This record gives sequence, structure tokens and C-alpha cells, in this order.
Amino acid sequence: MPDHTHEFDYVVIGGGTAGSVIAARLTEDPDVTVAVIEGGPSDVGRDDVLTLRRWMGLLGGDLDYDYPTTEQPRGNSHIRHSRARVLGGCSSHNTLISFKPLPSDWDEWERAGAEGWGAVPMEPYFARLKNNIVSVDEKDRNAIARDFVDAAETALGVPRVEGFNEKPFTEGVGFFDLAY
Ligand SMILES: Cc1cc2nc3c(=O)[nH]c(=O)nc-3n(C[C@H](O)[C@H](O)[C@H](O)COP(=O)(O)OP(=O)(O)OC[C@H]3O[C@@H](n4cnc5c(N)ncnc54)[C@H](O)[C@@H]3O)c2cc1C
Repeated sequence: MPDHTHEFDYVVIGGGTAGSVIAARLTEDPDVTVAVIEGGPSDVGRDDVLTLRRWMGLLGGDLDYDYPTTEQPRGNSHIRHSRARVLGGCSSHNTLISFKPLPSDWDEWERAGAEGWGAVPMEPYFARLKNNIVSVDEKDRNAIARDFVDAAETALGVPRVEGFNEKPFTEGVGFFDLAY
């Protein structure tokens, strides 16, 4: 019988977003061996996964665990809760929207115990991102969202903020900076 026994320094269960990053970081050391056990197939050659604009077609398909919500007596019973079943996990399913958390959120997280995850130590990691986190361009501003922002500003007197990440956070209303 063939010998299927292998030994690895690390076994990562789930080759999704976090699992893939952890496996990649661990194997930066050529002396470290890692086994990744992924429940779904590879996305190599799968245009439905690799073409970002087709993300919606993945929902409910063969690469979606598609966890149902529990029946509710007063509605909201069939909310789709997608979770990707593919190498890369939900990062292979999602639309790659990303944004920079507000410094106060990072700092709150650090105070709650996530040592080293404050706004200042996290800053260099954002410099390494390969996408641009920018203000939503005028032409991309959704009409309903624009109305909502305008109404909050004029009807309620909530201060308008352009560029939430550009200066210390003040409460207000506006389009958040993101990569899209
Ligand atoms: C449709 C959709 C759109 C989204 N859009 C965005 C977005 O634009 N921007 C953003 O930042 N976030 C977005 N998210 C959220 C983000 O993608 C997830 O929060 C993140 O990818 C979760 O990472 P994870 O490593 O925790 O889990 P996952 O990436 O889900 O990885 C889990 C992996 O484990 C595998 N697995 C599960 N069970 C087993 C098992 N028993 N054995 C082996 N393998 C197993 C799965 O197949 C999967 O590959 C979106 C999520 C979805 C579903």
C-alpha cells in the first residue's frame, strides 16, 4: 500500500482569506512545511471566480455553502448568507471593497487587548496595499446615497465630511473613502 503519511510543521484548515495568508507567510521560511486543507476546489481556470464583475453569479452556486437563516415568524426568513467554498475563500467571492478604519476604531481595538493593532503601528501596512483607498468619485456617487448625505446635512445640521481618512475623525456625514 502507498504510504500516505506525511508530516508538516503546520496544518492550516481552510484555504480561505485568513488561511491562505497564514500559509503564505509561514512558507516565506523555506525550512517550514505547511499543509493547507481546503474544502472547495481551486479557482485556477474558473473565469466565474477570476472575473471580478461576475461575483454575483457565484452566490448560491456550487462554490457557495449558502447557509440559510432560520425561519422567522415575522419575516426575514430567507436571507442569503453566502460563504465561499473555494480556494481563497470569500476573498474569491467578494468585490474587493476595502477601506481604512478610522484611527479611533483601531485604538479602541488595541485598548480592548489587541496589542500592536493600534492606528500608528497599522499605518505601514496600509502603505503596502496594492489598491487605492480614495474618495468616491463624483460620477460614482449613488443618487440615493447622495440624497441621504444632503438631507442629513441640511435637514439635521449634521456636519459634512469629505475625506474621512484625511484628518482626525470628526463625526459627520459623507461618502467614506474606499477602494472600489
Ligand atoms: C458575497 C460576499 C461579498 C463580500 N464583500 C466584501 C468586500 O467587498 N470587502 C471585504 O473586505 N469583505 C467582503 N466580504 C467579507 C470577506 O470576504 C470575509 O469576511 C473574509 O473573506 C472572511 O475570511 P475568512 O478567512 O475568515 O473566511 P473564508 O474566506 O470564508 O475562508 C474559509 C475557508 O474555509 C474553507 N472551509 C470551511 N469549512 C471547511 C472544512 N471543514 N474543511 C476545510 N475547509 C473548510 C472554506 O471553503 C473557505 O475557503 C464579502 C463576503 C461575501 C460572502
